[in-house]
Amino acid sequence: MLKPNCRLNSLHTRHDYENLETQFLASYAMRSGESAGRCYAENEHDYRTCYQRDRDRIIHSVAFRRLEYKTQVFLYNAGDHYRTRLTHTLEVAQIARTLGRILGVNEDLCEANALAHDLGHPPFGHEGERVLNELLSDHGGFEHNAQALRIVDCLEKHYPTHPGLNLTAETRRGILKNKPPYTGMGENLADFLPIEAQLVDLADEISYTSHDLDDGIESGLLRLEDLRQLPLWNEAWEKVEQLFPAIDEKRRRYQIIIQLINEMVMDVARETHRRLCDAHFARIDHAGDYSESMSIKVKEAKRFLMDHLYRHRLVLRTNSRCRRIITRLFEHYSANPKQLPRSFLKRVETEGLPRSVADYVSGMTDRYADEDYKQIFGY
Ligand code: MG
Repeated sequence: MLKPNCRLNSLHTRHDYENLETQFLASYAMRSGESAGRCYAENEHDYRTCYQRDRDRIIHSVAFRRLEYKTQVFLYNAGDHYRTRLTHTLEVAQIARTLGRILGVNEDLCEANALAHDLGHPPFGHEGERVLNELLSDHGGFEHNAQALRIVDCLEKHYPTHPGLNLTAETRRGILKNKPPYTGMGENLADFLPIEAQLVDLADEISYTSHDLDDGIESGLLRLEDLRQLPLWNEAWEKVEQLFPAIDEKRRRYQIIIQLINEMVMDVARETHRRLCDAHFARIDHAGDYSESMSIKVKEAKRFLMDHLYRHRLVLRTNSRCRRIITRLFEHYSANPKQLPRSFLKRVETEGLPRSVADYVSGMTDRYADEDYKQIFGY
């Protein structure tokens, strides 16, 4: 009779996972046991690796919960079926984990980076970011990756001993991507971009390219017949026709999106592996990418989305309203700093007024910014 394997059936500790990572992850993967650590020293957990703890801290942050009420492309209240930043983030995490598992890299780090990748987005999507960047042009500008790092480093308040979430150097570097660090916050950042963060960046692009096409059709702003001119869409369409010739309209759209995501994910996995192979499986900065032919197709799809969706007159019309709300809120709090919540007012001394106001306004959800605007300006 076979004896039960006692080790497998016992509690799995952090050491077990660190050993597993040593044995099974690729040479170019990050291993939690080799992390450069956190800004503020703390004891390791007995059962969770440092990257699992990073992921958990991000999920339990206030900024993460706010993603539910932040715009992706359509305003949060345009309909219940469109992606929000929260559902987009969950899609990115799923795609990044899939890529991470195929390439044998650290899935927990992929997940931590994916869940944090949009934390710094202000209300009203990219228009919100553009306006804040203009308003802060004389004060270092505004960029959502740098803002995400400010949030996890300074603005979240969970510990009595230090500000922020005290994430590891590798997760922090992945959040910042290749942007220059903001003043004073460059310390303890990994000096190269881990492959896990590179995959998250591609997972982000795969996710929004496919779901913006989907949401664009759902909204009626994109027309199916126009999409056929896109090789990326057309090839997926033909595959679905072959597999399910009698499929109805709605299911066809789902199937096309499934095909699109799968094609892009498998292309990235193969091309990234090829590049890593060329680099003798070393940790390199620019391993994650599409093949040349897929890169062309994705660029065409992004250009199409820019011309037909992001610059659609109905989207632009909501953009100008969002621009007015952010600008007037920013000007109002800059002129009346005493109306800022106490924690932001306190930061004025060290961070200056414009940055503190930007921290406050950019943290608002679409819904909150709308309400605040109505309360202050009365309409
Ligand atoms: Mg994103």
